[in-house]
Amino acid sequence: MDELESARIRVYRNDPGGRGERLVASDPPLFIDEGAWAFRVEGPAPDPRPYPPDTPEFLYWQLASALERGKRLWQRLLPTGQWVPGAVLPAVPAAGDDLNAYYDRRALRFFRDVDAKSGAIVQSGDSVDIATHEQGHAVLDGARPDLWDAPHFEVAAFHEAFGDLAAIFVALAEPPLASRVFDETAGDPARSNLVSRLAEELGAAVRGRFGEDAAMPRSLRDAVNAFRYADPRTLPDSAPASVLSAEPHSFCNVATGACWDLLVALFRANPDADRARALRDSAASLAGWAVAAAETAPSGADFLGRFARRIVRAARSEGSVSAPALADALRARGLISSADVGDELDPDDGRGVFAPGDGEPLTPALRAAIEARLPPAERAEIVPLAFAGERPAPRILRGRRRRDLVLRGTEYGPADGAAVELSESFALAFAESGVLRASRVHPASDRDAEDARAFVRFLARRRAIADEVEGRAAIRGLAREGKSHAVVREDDGIRRLRRLWIAEEER
Ligand SMILES: [Zn+2]
Repeated sequence: MDELESARIRVYRNDPGGRGERLVASDPPLFIDEGAWAFRVEGPAPDPRPYPPDTPEFLYWQLASALERGKRLWQRLLPTGQWVPGAVLPAVPAAGDDLNAYYDRRALRFFRDVDAKSGAIVQSGDSVDIATHEQGHAVLDGARPDLWDAPHFEVAAFHEAFGDLAAIFVALAEPPLASRVFDETAGDPARSNLVSRLAEELGAAVRGRFGEDAAMPRSLRDAVNAFRYADPRTLPDSAPASVLSAEPHSFCNVATGACWDLLVALFRANPDADRARALRDSAASLAGWAVAAAETAPSGADFLGRFARRIVRAARSEGSVSAPALADALRARGLISSADVGDELDPDDGRGVFAPGDGEPLTPALRAAIEARLPPAERAEIVPLAFAGERPAPRILRGRRRRDLVLRGTEYGPADGAAVELSESFALAFAESGVLRASRVHPASDRDAEDARAFVRFLARRRAIADEVEGRAAIRGLAREGKSHAVVREDDGIRRLRRLWIAEEER
């Protein structure tokens, strides 16, 4: 082996259990701990070499290579993004024995176990699908920290869908994978394929351990699916993988499936004779619109509908000829009720209300203007989330007012007497002169409050809530027990329900 050859690594491009997945030679990723969405893989960095699978050295480079592909995608889509935990996100390649991976606002953690049927070692960090799904959770948390604790079925499901879409967009950015999708589906990506199928190897191990109903037939989840929207409060808490349930890893299939439908619609409308390139370009367009929608859709019970309407508006405002086809696809999934998605903002005479200076706190006048547009509320706090847009105009200030909803009753388990946060969102658009010219607020409705109560009852039935004492234990132990949330007494003396971690897989 000459020196050049030995400085290359070998990696899986998609998932070790993917169809015909073979190792490919690759250059080791460089500068992973620099710039936006920087990360590091914990443990000593082995010299770059083509190591055999199931060795720590292989896992190091496999995980680094997957996360670096994700980093490149996120630098393009969200160039100014930042992690919640800090400038460099740690990734722990082998955090213990489990068939899982999770993000806990400190790090990405990957686990290993043995497939009960095949006897093969299953390391979740070997799967590009899983690595980029977890990275997607952390990216969404950075862009939308308000979604982390949001007590809504659709927001929890959206976090999962965003992870799966992250994995799909990373995969389709890669020319050889886009070509393989085209080949495998004989040119019709509406058919299940290696990219639509997510976490094939982990899915097989989950079926081996928990039964055939525990995952889709050929993977953990598949974006090519026929699940249609239903109010999650009307769905069972859990169900076989072939049936939609309110559990976020099941309910997310509606949003991921809808986005795959959009991808197919864009692909079919794309006249490029190079069909693999048409698929890549369609994925890139959709990724831009979906990420912009995720950045701005107001939190609440109706999150998926808000997300869906924003995608259509984004396509429309870019002049995409496919905008009507996208609306049709979302309507067929039940995510929007009409092709007329309206405008995001309403005209606002905005007299005397001016844009804040860059990086400056909200002025009292601006706070008063926001309060005047929302219904009266006691003990509510205004939190700006983002101030962005093309300079010089329009610039849009987005944020939310948060207020506590106190839960009372034994059906809330350890959260009896604790509060969850409801969000009331606002968006204010300023003209070039700096004066307010359009706005929209989304006050918390009875449906939001009822959805929040139902979501916490759902968590309590699943025994996913740690009480105040349990919540102080190490997250690893709480993750093993399936406790994703904990009641925490906060600085203002109020006990609130907070999320601890979010995983690839929950049962
Ligand atoms: Zn997840």
